[in-house]
Amino acid sequence: MIVTITPIWGYLLTVLLVVFLALHLRKLKKIKVFEDKAAHLESILVAIPDAIVFTGTDRKVVSINRGMELLSGYSINELAGRSTSIFYQTTKDYEQQGQIYFNPERTDKSLPQEITYRRKDGSVFLGETCSRSVKSSSGEFLGYISVSRDISERKNAEEKRELAASVFIHAREGIMISDKSASIINVNKTFTEITGYSSLEAIGQDPSLLRSDKHSIEYYTERRRVIFTTGHWQGEQWICCKNGKNTIVRHNIAAVYDSKGNVKNYVTMFSDITAMKEDQEQLKRSAHYDSLTGLPNRTLLVDRLNHAMKQRQKNQNSLAVVFLDLDGFKAVNDAYGHSVGDELLTILAQHMKEALREGDTLSRFGGDEFVAIVANLGETESCETVLKRLLAAAATPVAMGNAAVRVSASIGITLYPQDDVDAEQLIRHADQAMYIAKQGGKNRYHFFDTAQDKAFTVQRESLGDIRSAMQRQEFVLYYQPQVNMGSGDVIGMEALIRWQHSSRGLVPPLDFLPAIEGHGISLEIGEWVIETALAQIRQWQGMGIKLPISVNISAYQIQQDNFVDRLAGLLAAYPEVSPRYLELEILETSGLSDIRKVADTMRACRDLGVRFALDDFGTGYSSLTYLRRLPASLIKIDRSFVRDMLVDAEDFAIVEGIIALTKSFKLEVIAEGVETAEQGVTLLKLGCELAQGYGIARPMPASDVPAWIGDWKEDPGWKT
Ligand code: C2E
Ligand code: CA
Ligand code: CA
Repeated sequence: MIVTITPIWGYLLTVLLVVFLALHLRKLKKIKVFEDKAAHLESILVAIPDAIVFTGTDRKVVSINRGMELLSGYSINELAGRSTSIFYQTTKDYEQQGQIYFNPERTDKSLPQEITYRRKDGSVFLGETCSRSVKSSSGEFLGYISVSRDISERKNAEEKRELAASVFIHAREGIMISDKSASIINVNKTFTEITGYSSLEAIGQDPSLLRSDKHSIEYYTERRRVIFTTGHWQGEQWICCKNGKNTIVRHNIAAVYDSKGNVKNYVTMFSDITAMKEDQEQLKRSAHYDSLTGLPNRTLLVDRLNHAMKQRQKNQNSLAVVFLDLDGFKAVNDAYGHSVGDELLTILAQHMKEALREGDTLSRFGGDEFVAIVANLGETESCETVLKRLLAAAATPVAMGNAAVRVSASIGITLYPQDDVDAEQLIRHADQAMYIAKQGGKNRYHFFDTAQDKAFTVQRESLGDIRSAMQRQEFVLYYQPQVNMGSGDVIGMEALIRWQHSSRGLVPPLDFLPAIEGHGISLEIGEWVIETALAQIRQWQGMGIKLPISVNISAYQIQQDNFVDRLAGLLAAYPEVSPRYLELEILETSGLSDIRKVADTMRACRDLGVRFALDDFGTGYSSLTYLRRLPASLIKIDRSFVRDMLVDAEDFAIVEGIIALTKSFKLEVIAEGVETAEQGVTLLKLGCELAQGYGIARPMPASDVPAWIGDWKEDPGWKT
């Protein structure tokens, strides 16, 4: 009973009780009636867990209780008559204690003292002791009685509590402690800083005080369920502050259990992450939105277009990609300055956005170019309504100071899936159509037309442009892996040229190569390709990647009189590269006018160590003749046959036939344009193990190749 009272008062009471017992025990014993009672009281003395020592006026031990035996390790027999100094760690402590207690004048007023004691076995502990003098009824000074207990554990716990308290106070996180009946029992300073609620306002309230309506009831129910089942929850969450504003915090709730495993408290910690979120948001915006108009930028546009193309497959409607370029914008910029130009762009962007329907996307493509995605088009008519609205919107007169500025727009459109190409190419086609609208007199729109496209590209990519692109080193080689589906090995890379155009992005080869076919610049580019491939082989070999590269050679190039010499010169410049690593793919075999001459050239090259492949095999007229007469070692089955071989019996027969032919001519065969595992499996069954195609990998920059090789795994489907 006594022990449960707060430590100090518990002590004093124990001491008083003991003093009382000591004084009266003998007296009580003498009186018969009390004999039993005395025994009873003695047993209490024994039962008290505290250590009790009676000492005489000389500070020598008279007697001790069981508690003292346990605490000190000494028995009463070992202690009787010995100085209490053996209990102390230092003589100084012994003396100090003497001054405080063993002074008949002061002793009864002293509070418990903390002292380091030593046990019999030499170990020390922190004890708390209370002593009093014992006087007889006649006032005679008899000695002292001390009650001690080991407080090391309590001290430890106190220190921990203090530490916890200081963590609580100084934590950078807001901390809220609630009890199991959902009532806040404490909050720290940071809590107040974040939420605006002082501890007075918060304590006693329900933690739902901070509940934000940005989350649904279900959200909170789920959160409760998680805490209930797992004991904790963490996540980003909105809280509603005292000023009514919602703040996003990183929230961490943990249940605290008592020794029986019942929930005692909940500790909620949170940190304000508004600033971090804003930064992220800002980053995301600048990555996806144009800073001037706030419209999606090119990156987001391509994303959305890809998404819209996928959607379309579900709902069967067409979608239009609309490329819009302002007419006369440059003149406004020149006349009024850039800030007026910027303002005009912003205003017109807004008008054009309004001209579209909800769900359509308008993006700023760059400068005064905009691209819109108009989804869900039923018929061309409905597209034209939108286009007319866009033309009108772009031509809205805008007041700039005291002048009214007015521009117009040229628009090019292409429709997907009628124009069945990828997102980037759709945009390019719309751009080309826009160019025609511009040439046709501006302030109008023009639909892209595949047939017209070809002729137009040739005309547009003037030789001059391509020459300067060469000087500016704007060409790059992409590499498409070639693999053996049977063994899973990567067997080589095909080099495919691209034009890294400053405004149009990556331009594919068929958009510019036809324009230079037969011109000197095509030879220059052709040699650049060979040289770049050789340098690439050397670089990869340095990295431990030993792969042949195949290079495309036009009919025009291989028919040059000096082709062998030029090739030998290039090879000589790369003595570290074995010519076996270079393979030449001959394109458009039907464009070869003098078969015998080409065959001689090929033989001479083969003597240098270079191998040949016949590209796009099966498309020309006299494939069989070429097969017989040209010394190639590899045949590439044209991708048009591979594409349809599973649905078109004729194409299947051609593929089957080509493979059989290569077998009888003892040539290697590779299939181009393998896009699916089924195509791969069928080719394997037909005896064609080598393949190349999007199903394996798209052409990629040289720098991506090592990582691709590292990650490459054959299609599990090929094995079955
Ligand atoms: P190609 O020699 O028949 O090259 C294969 C073309 O098919 C490449 O187009 C490649 O990206 C594409 N392709 C590869 N796998 C697949 C697939 O699974 N599905 C589909 N749909 N296409 C696939 P790219 O790079 O646009 O090249 C087109 C053509 O341009 C080449 O056809 C080649 O004739 C010519 N070319 C490319 N680079 C050069 C070069 O350096 N010199 C010369 N003279 N011509 C080149
Ligand atoms: Ca090729
Ligand atoms: Ca080909």
